[in-house]
This record gives sequence, C-alpha cells and structure tokens, in this order.
Amino acid sequence: MTDEHSAPGAGGVLVVGGGISGLTVALEAAEVGNDVFLIEKNPYLGGRVAQLNQYFPKLCPPSCGLEINFKRLKNNRRIRVYTMTEVKKVSGGPGNYEVELETMPRYINSNCTGCNDCVEVCTDERDNDFNFGMDKTKAVYRPHEMSFPMRYVLDMDACSPEVAQKVKAACKYDAVDLEMKPETVTLNVGAIVWATGWNPYDPAKMDNLKFNESNAIITNMMMERLASPGGPTGGRILRPGDDKEPESFAFVQCAGSRDENHLEFCSYICCMATMKQITYIRERYPEAKIYVFYIDLRTPGKYEKFREKVMNDENTQFIKGKVADIKIEDDGGVTVIAENAMTGNKVEQKVDLVILATGMEPAFKEQGAALGLQMDSNGFVISDADQGMISAGCAKKAADVVTSTQSATAAALKAIQMSRR
Ligand SMILES: Cc1cc2nc3c(=O)[nH]c(=O)nc-3n(C[C@H](O)[C@H](O)[C@H](O)COP(=O)(O)OP(=O)(O)OC[C@H]3O[C@@H](n4cnc5c(N)ncnc54)[C@H](O)[C@@H]3O)c2cc1C
Repeated sequence: MTDEHSAPGAGGVLVVGGGISGLTVALEAAEVGNDVFLIEKNPYLGGRVAQLNQYFPKLCPPSCGLEINFKRLKNNRRIRVYTMTEVKKVSGGPGNYEVELETMPRYINSNCTGCNDCVEVCTDERDNDFNFGMDKTKAVYRPHEMSFPMRYVLDMDACSPEVAQKVKAACKYDAVDLEMKPETVTLNVGAIVWATGWNPYDPAKMDNLKFNESNAIITNMMMERLASPGGPTGGRILRPGDDKEPESFAFVQCAGSRDENHLEFCSYICCMATMKQITYIRERYPEAKIYVFYIDLRTPGKYEKFREKVMNDENTQFIKGKVADIKIEDDGGVTVIAENAMTGNKVEQKVDLVILATGMEPAFKEQGAALGLQMDSNGFVISDADQGMISAGCAKKAADVVTSTQSATAAALKAIQMSRR
C-alpha cells in the first residue's frame, strides 16, 4: 500500500468505498498486477463491518476478516489509499476515465505514531459517530480501537483554536498540521468500481416507532456497538441514558424495510442480525425475556440452522405481527403494540429495551444520481460493465458479507478486463 497523496498514475482501477467489498475489489485487482486507487470518505477503512460486534455465520469479531485484508493491503505497493476522500466529477468513458477527487483535511499527518499525547491534553469533545452518538471522544481522536490506517484525526469543528494549539504543542513528532486544506486530485483510470455500501435507514422517519422519544428504543446497529468490547459500555448491554441492565427486550423486524413508504425492498440480513443479537443478549442475561415481532422470518440457505437453534431458546417468543405503535412508559420502559397475525389478538408487551431492525439504505443514492450513474428505483448502483462502471457489495444490493465479497470478486474481474482494453 502506498500512502495517500502519492502521485497518481494512469490506466488503473478506481475503487470507491473502503468497506469489505471495496477492500476485496482493490486486493483482487492489485494482486494480479493492476494499479488501484482505493478511496474512502471515512478516516478509516473497513466500512460497516468494523462496527459489528461479531459477524455471522461464525460469530467472529470483525478484526478476523479485516486484519487479513489490511495486511494484504500494506504489503501491496500497487494500491494507493485515499481516506476522507470523495469523487467530485467523472468524465471520459470506458477504458479512459478522468476522475476528480476531493480529500478533506485530517489535520494529522503521517508522522502520527498513535502515542495518544494529543488526546491527553485535548479538553474539547465531539459525539462519537462510530458509536452512533452513544458516547463522546476528544476532538482529536482515533476513530476506533482497530482503525486502519492507524492515524488520529482532528475534528476542527469540535475544537476551539486555543485547544487546537495545545494539541499541536503536545505532539513531539510534529504530526499536527493545523494549516491542512481540502485537496483536489485528478486521476485517469480504465474502470471504476462503486463499493459505497449502505447506511442504516433513519429510524426517525417512522413516527409510530418513536425512536427520538425514548432512550429505550435503539437500532440494531446501536445494539452492535453496545455489545462490542470497544463500544460505549465496554460490551455490557445497558439501556442508554440510565445504564439499566434490561430484563426484557423486544426486536421490531422490518423497521422501514418492505414498506413502500420507506424502503421497498427486504434488507436481507435483518432477520439473521436479530438472531445473532439474541445470542449477544443471552450471553449476558441468561434469564432475560426476549420478544421478536416479525412479518415473516427470512434466513436463507445455511442460515436456517442458526435460526432453528436460536428459536429453541425458551425465553424468546416470536410473534408474527407488524408493530403498529410504541408507547413510552414513565419508568423508562416502553410498550410495544402489535396485532398477532396468527390469533388476531392485540398484543401489548412492555419491555426495558426495544431494538429496531432497521434496514440497509444504499449510501450512494443521491450522489450516484448526481454523478449520472445508472441507479435503480431504490438507489442501488446498476452495474454496467461495458461502460466500465461496476458496482459491488451493498452498493449493488442489500447483502451479507459473503455475498458482498463474492460480488466484489466478480466486480474486480470486470474491472481488470476493462482496464486492459
Ligand atoms: C445490524 C446489522 C448486522 C449485520 N451483521 C452481519 C453479520 O453478522 N454477518 C454478515 O455477513 N453481514 C452482516 N451485516 C451486513 C454487512 O454489514 C454488509 O454485508 C457489509 O457491510 C457490506 O459491505 P460493503 O463494503 O458492501 O458496504 P459497507 O460496509 O457499507 O462499506 C462501504 C464503504 O464505502 C464508504 N463510502 C460510502 N459512500 C462513499 C463515498 N461517496 N465516497 C467514498 N467512500 C464512500 C463507506 O464509508 C464505507 O466505508 C449486518 C448488517 C446490519 C444492518
């Protein structure tokens, strides 16, 4: 891997998005001799997988798959990585694109050793977006405990000029550069792979689910962070706000998915994510009551066995019924209201914590359309290999990691062919 800001070359492959899909494309293409430019808008690579506590089917921590990829990346000088970077303009055509990139300032240069001296003196704080705002970091921070490239970031919007000077003075390696400015780079590439992934669907858009009205209502991605040893509670699953150890949990499936007012499509992984998160709860709270409200359960192929195992849990009840409303209770809990589709009865279930199984919304929806890419009606990027525009992973469709990496490998092959025309 060559660090960002090295001289760009021509005829290579541009990979947009440094999640598991983008990493796979970049490595597959570079390891057969292509020059690859991998750009990522975050200050770190790894995408959403880095935020998971464990991932199915093996329930291993994200470091498992990501670290191998980072090692391959470090050892490959054909890949140039640009973090905090986005595509501004694309012109030209298949085999010969001209792409304008913009890199935002990190304010920390490559001298950073991660010694943490800057954090020690920094008194300003920012909401920790990696943990969905459930805790804070200092204004100068490492994005997360295994972030790669291992370099800190200074959030100037959260830092006063006086504190920024203190942060600079504390660095004995001269790594803090307060004069950094946004930079523009133009590349020539033969093919572009869009691996821009997904964002959690905004739960505030579903008025009936009251996400913004109670700390007892979280999303499935917040649950991943609450269960993670690197998360805001060190892996204890506590209710945000009052740190209560919940005795009862409710999962609301299809929160925004398969709904023409929100996301029309099935997000594919939410049922499995819930099954997995039940194992997180069971490990910490052997006696807790768990209720799962669902339309139907979709755990295709090899995931069926996992579902069967979890459904044998005698303290977990599966209720077929779409949640109509959530009532906020005075004691900090909430009551989930649904109609049981099997019995026709109204169900009112009070619990300490609700987890909304929010779906995956394509992250490139608006930008892709603005750049003139072919998009489907849900905002996924349509692959047009003949045009040298290829999509991979969750930029193409909602998928699990295995399916995403398969699609990334196929995308790499198309990109290699295109770049050698
Ligand atoms: C609650 C939950 C739990 C899950 N658990 C599992 C599990 O246990 N096992 C499993 O197999 N799958 C799981 N998944 C699915 C898994 O997260 C996806 O399969 C995986 O993230 C797909 O990787 P990706 O690289 O395609 O997308 P992402 O992980 O979203 O990565 C895309 C990358 O592109 C970057 N990017 C976006 N836009 C731009 C831009 N304009 N310019 C530059 N960069 C950009 C993003 O910052 C990100 O780094 C889960 C999903 C959810 C919702």
